[in-house]
Amino acid sequence: MKTVSSTLSCDILVLGGGSAGAAAAWSASAPGISVVLAEKTGRLGGTATNGLVSTLCGCYSSLGERRKISGGARDALARELKALGGLDEGVNRDTHRSDICDPELLACALDRMVLRRGTELHLSTLVTGASFDGERLLSVETVNTESGTRVVILPKIAVDVTGKALLAPFAPSGAVLSPEGGKLQAGTMVFRMDSVDGKTARAVSKDQIASLMAEARAKGDITQERGNGVLTVLPGGTAAIVNANWVKADPSVPLDVTAGLTGGRDKVLENARFFRKYVPGFERAVLSCIAPALGVREASRTECAYTLTEEDIMEGRLFADAVCVGSWPMEYHDWERNRLVYRWSGKDYTIPYRSLLPRGMDNVLAAGRNISVTSGAYASSRVMGQCLATGHAAGTAARLALRSGSLLRDLDRDLLRKTLLDEGAILE
Ligand SMILES: Cc1cc2nc3c(=O)[nH]c(=O)nc-3n(C[C@H](O)[C@H](O)[C@H](O)COP(=O)(O)OP(=O)(O)OC[C@H]3O[C@@H](n4cnc5c(N)ncnc54)[C@H](O)[C@@H]3O)c2cc1C
Repeated sequence: MKTVSSTLSCDILVLGGGSAGAAAAWSASAPGISVVLAEKTGRLGGTATNGLVSTLCGCYSSLGERRKISGGARDALARELKALGGLDEGVNRDTHRSDICDPELLACALDRMVLRRGTELHLSTLVTGASFDGERLLSVETVNTESGTRVVILPKIAVDVTGKALLAPFAPSGAVLSPEGGKLQAGTMVFRMDSVDGKTARAVSKDQIASLMAEARAKGDITQERGNGVLTVLPGGTAAIVNANWVKADPSVPLDVTAGLTGGRDKVLENARFFRKYVPGFERAVLSCIAPALGVREASRTECAYTLTEEDIMEGRLFADAVCVGSWPMEYHDWERNRLVYRWSGKDYTIPYRSLLPRGMDNVLAAGRNISVTSGAYASSRVMGQCLATGHAAGTAARLALRSGSLLRDLDRDLLRKTLLDEGAILE
């Protein structure tokens, strides 16, 4: 393949176009500021679209009246989704309230959200390397996977929203935060079924699925380890997203991901047979899509000025430099013990700006599931309400730092919080 190399300068480079990356590009873009978003796949949304996880959890408090706790980017996305007829807003489930969207329309809505703001979108663009001068990021290497064209991007500020610590290993003193004990949560191969009787399926609870799975196992219809699952009926009421298997996959080990993809698809075939035979509303359902990407729940993240802990969440800590509110329980998919653990705190908590400020990197921010959190805290902060909100915060911080000429670490926190509030974010 003939490769052509060129360079491209920009003010802000967003690496990764998942929910957090799209939110970061949306908030960073403004007249006079050039924003480039580089995403390795052919569409935005990351886990939410290519992994078929299209229920936006964490947009509402888990407490009492279930108030909205994620605004700003979440609201901009909701507007685009509503215009496309792809959103069921504020749906009450047994334990929580969520926004439910169609993954295909979600990808289209994210396109509109970032393109309307003038972001320069580089899809099918894999980030392959980076160079630093001391703590300063100088350049990011990319290759377009369609044309083979190599572009070296020279940003003033970058936001690492790749769902893992992509830039940190290239920085001389950048730090990668690995999950404690090297233990990663289980992944899942999510799938979609169509011709579902949505009204009936919506009434099926998680407990009911678990007891039907136990019955199916006793009859030899289920062989997989996982004994629980969740279904989400999509807007329109005739299709459902199903999350019902566990797959072991460490995304840093190439053959693990391949085995997870092939093994995951095998599990989906068994899951779909089970749903058709046992789960009310699925009697005529057809398997219509297996997620093109493996649903990787956990990966390494970037170590930042402050690492959010399980204790912060349990105590509902309110930080003076908070850029986001969280409330989702610590939902841990424990592969090693084959169990799903929920820990509820009884309090909403906040995420500080310092958890987005990488150690050893001057002009880089982290957001989404790449913020600095312990494994326990990650189990809560990884949901999309918080990914959208931290992405929004990182994009706004990058824009303000650029305009004021301040270092990211010296950015006026009051100005950041005031600007986020003006942009519709919810900070307490
Ligand atoms: C099975 C499963 C079920 C889940 N269920 C829910 C749920 O119901 N509700 C909820 O709110 N959350 C759920 N989550 C969690 C949530 O979906 C993710 O944590 C969240 O979407 C992460 O968003 P992100 O933008 O931080 O990262 P991602 O969505 O992972 O996006 C990262 C992006 O970076 C891109 N990228 C990576 N490397 C490179 C590179 N080298 N070059 C260029 N681009 C790159 C990827 O292609 C991707 O688009 C679930 C997760 C899984 C795996």
